[in-house]
Amino acid sequence: MTANRLAYMPATLIKGKPIADRIRAEVAEEVKALGHVGIVTVLVGDDPASEVYIRLKQKAAAEAGFDARDVRLPADISEEDLLAQVAALNADDEVDGLLVQLPLPDHIDEARILRAIAPMKDVDGLHPFNAGQLLLGRPTLVGATPLGVMEMLREHRIEIDGARAVVIGRSNIVGRPMAQLLQQANATVTVCHSHTRDLPRHTLDADILVAAVGVPGLVTPDMVRQGGVVIDVGINRTADGLVGDVDPAAEGVASYFTPVPGGVGPMTIACLLQNAVKSARYLRGGLVYPV
Ligand code: NAP
Repeated sequence: MTANRLAYMPATLIKGKPIADRIRAEVAEEVKALGHVGIVTVLVGDDPASEVYIRLKQKAAAEAGFDARDVRLPADISEEDLLAQVAALNADDEVDGLLVQLPLPDHIDEARILRAIAPMKDVDGLHPFNAGQLLLGRPTLVGATPLGVMEMLREHRIEIDGARAVVIGRSNIVGRPMAQLLQQANATVTVCHSHTRDLPRHTLDADILVAAVGVPGLVTPDMVRQGGVVIDVGINRTADGLVGDVDPAAEGVASYFTPVPGGVGPMTIACLLQNAVKSARYLRGGLVYPV
C-alpha cells in the first residue's frame, strides 16, 4: 500500500540555485572581509563547452567580489610553456585560487600539469596531495561538484549516516571524491563504472543514487529504488538541449530529485568560490594547511 502511494507521490526537487545563491552571498561577505581574493582560470584552446564553464566561473567570481583573471592560452602551447605559466601563477601573491580547465589537449600530460599547481591554490582538489588527504579522511581542498552534492543533501536533511549510497562514475573530478565524501559521512558506498555488470542490481539498492557518467538518460525509472534520493550530476548537450544522466521520469519514483539544468550545476560554481576563499585563508595563515 505504502509502496503504491509512493509511486504516485512527486519527488521533492532539490534545486541548486537557492542554495548556491546563499553560499555565493556568504562567499562575497568573506571576500569583503579578506580585502582581496584572487582567482585565476586557465583555459587552453577553445573547446566550446569549456568556454561556457569558464565564462560562468568568471562571472560568478566577479559578482562575489573576487579579483578574477581569465587566462587563455593557445591549443598548441607546449607542455613546458604551460608548466611555466602555472609556475608563474603559483608564485604570484595576488593569486589565491588557481584552476586549469580540463580536458587539456592530447599532447599535454594532464597529470603533470595538475601536479605542478601549488596544492594550497588547487581549488579543484586535483593535486595528489589534496586527493590523498581526502582518501586519508582529512579533506583539505576537495572538488567543488562533490562538495556541492553534499551541501544539497545537508540542506534537505537527507540522512547519509548508514544509508546505502551508489555512485555511478569514478572520475577524479566527480565520482571518486563523491564516493569518499559519502563514505566519510558514514554511508555504505558502492562505486559503479563502465565495467559494472548488471548496473540496475546496484542502483535499485541505493537510498542515495549519484549519477556522474556523461550518458544522457542512462538511469531509467526502473533503475531507481522507490523513495530513493537521486542526484543527477550529468550535463549532456543533446539536440533536445541540456539533459542529465537520469531520465526525468525517474522523478516519479524518487523521494528527492535534482533537475538538469538547475540542480548540481549551480552548486559547483558556488563551492568553487568557497574553495578559493579557503585557499586564501590557507595562504594567509588563517587556516593551517596540513604540510
Ligand atoms: P568522465 O571523466 O567521463 O567519467 C565518467 C565515468 O562514468 C567513468 O568512471 C566511466 O567509467 C563511467 N561510465 C561511462 N559509461 C558508463 C556506463 N554505461 N555505465 C556505468 N558507468 C559508466 O566524466 P566526469 O567528468 O566525471 O563527468 C560526468 C558527467 O558529469 C558529465 O556529464 C559531465 O558533464 C558532468 N559534470 C557535471 C558537473 C556539474 O557541475 N553538474 C561537474 C562535472 C561534471 P570508466 O571509469 O570505467 O570509464
